[in-house]
Amino acid sequence: MGIYSASDRWLPCEACGLGIQCPVQGGTTSCSRCGAPFAAHARPDTSIPHSPPSDEGQRLMRLRAQDGKPMLPPEGFQQLIVNSQIPPHKMQEAQMVWSATRKALLGNPGDLGAADRLVWLTMLMRNTLLGTDDTRVRALLEGALEALMLPRHRQGIRGHLARGAVRENDFASADQWLAGCDPNSEDLPADSAFRVSYAFLATARNQPAAVLSMLGAKFEDVPIDDSMDAVATVLRANAWEKQGQVDSARAVLAAYMARGGGAAAVESVVKSSPASWHLCAQSLSGAQQQVRQVVASRASSGAALFGWVFLVAGCIPLVILIGLIASDQFELPMLFMLIFPLTFGGIGLKSIGAARRAKEIAANGLRGRGRILGLTPTGTTVNDVPMIRFDLEITLEGRPSVRASATKLMYPQGNLVGAEIGVIWHPKYPNDAVMEI
Ligand SMILES: [Zn+2]
Repeated sequence: MGIYSASDRWLPCEACGLGIQCPVQGGTTSCSRCGAPFAAHARPDTSIPHSPPSDEGQRLMRLRAQDGKPMLPPEGFQQLIVNSQIPPHKMQEAQMVWSATRKALLGNPGDLGAADRLVWLTMLMRNTLLGTDDTRVRALLEGALEALMLPRHRQGIRGHLARGAVRENDFASADQWLAGCDPNSEDLPADSAFRVSYAFLATARNQPAAVLSMLGAKFEDVPIDDSMDAVATVLRANAWEKQGQVDSARAVLAAYMARGGGAAAVESVVKSSPASWHLCAQSLSGAQQQVRQVVASRASSGAALFGWVFLVAGCIPLVILIGLIASDQFELPMLFMLIFPLTFGGIGLKSIGAARRAKEIAANGLRGRGRILGLTPTGTTVNDVPMIRFDLEITLEGRPSVRASATKLMYPQGNLVGAEIGVIWHPKYPNDAVMEI
């Protein structure tokens, strides 16, 4: 049995966070690492009462109304977080806050603010520790679960526990974690946690039809919380593929990957899933090619349009000039008209060249992450939308990082400096990059 067994109970040491396996009936001991006293009551029942079955179409409509609204982190966490993780030197502080929040919640289970904070902190610590201290992650999940009262909070955590068990091939435990969930939840994140965890288990059991009936045949069929869209997309596409419909699988992937950040999210889901599942093995690379074409045409269209407008505008005086010469009305000072094709035409050609370059980079370049160092308006606008130059520090797998810039048509928005975006870079044009979004 793995650490996600539903019959085992894990709680963290309140002082150092060590995952401690403790008896279901509770008891006292001391932490084997830091020596802090450890005490637990009997394991509470954390299963969620099932909502009465209602009209499924109506319920999906109510869930859909909640979609597309990202959850904002509770206040007071910003100083703990760097890139959605907790840096190592802040981990002890995070553990202290986690333990104190959990204790407060056990004393006052109705404190919803504390419950929200505990869930967020647990997820942040999970993101940070996953793969390096898995028993601690397991203990944090159950420690939070036992203190949480609301069905939506519990269901999110039970989903994590179920998927942890699936990864360990402990399907019986996954079944148990899911049996304590509400399959008819009226809350979108809770409903998505159930659907995605159920589909995860069905994927491991090689039951593609069950995956599609739970997640829908395509993106639009079943509303899924934004935070789980990428996982749902990969599982849905994989189910199509395993049913022999590779084209449908590719279409499902490509449609999602063409959205901002979608490609990177899909790839990280595939990468972090058990290799033996061969998720989307036949459809992913085809979808990546399709998405690159979309990115390429998007990257080049603004600059190309701008370029052609200049080129054509620049050439009109040239046409007039040729007409004058042909009709024998030419006089020498008219040569000044050549300045238009020479300058505007030059700008136009340069811009068309940049568009072509962007297309080649997007189609054949290397994918990486770009940290935004600065933004400058280029002075160009297309249809009143300004073109902005992004200066980027780009990290590529297996290469030293490079500095390059990319342009994008967009209205200025919030402070983007320091943010990370998906980019494509080509060694042939080391100073240029193309943004995936
Ligand atoms: Zn300890």
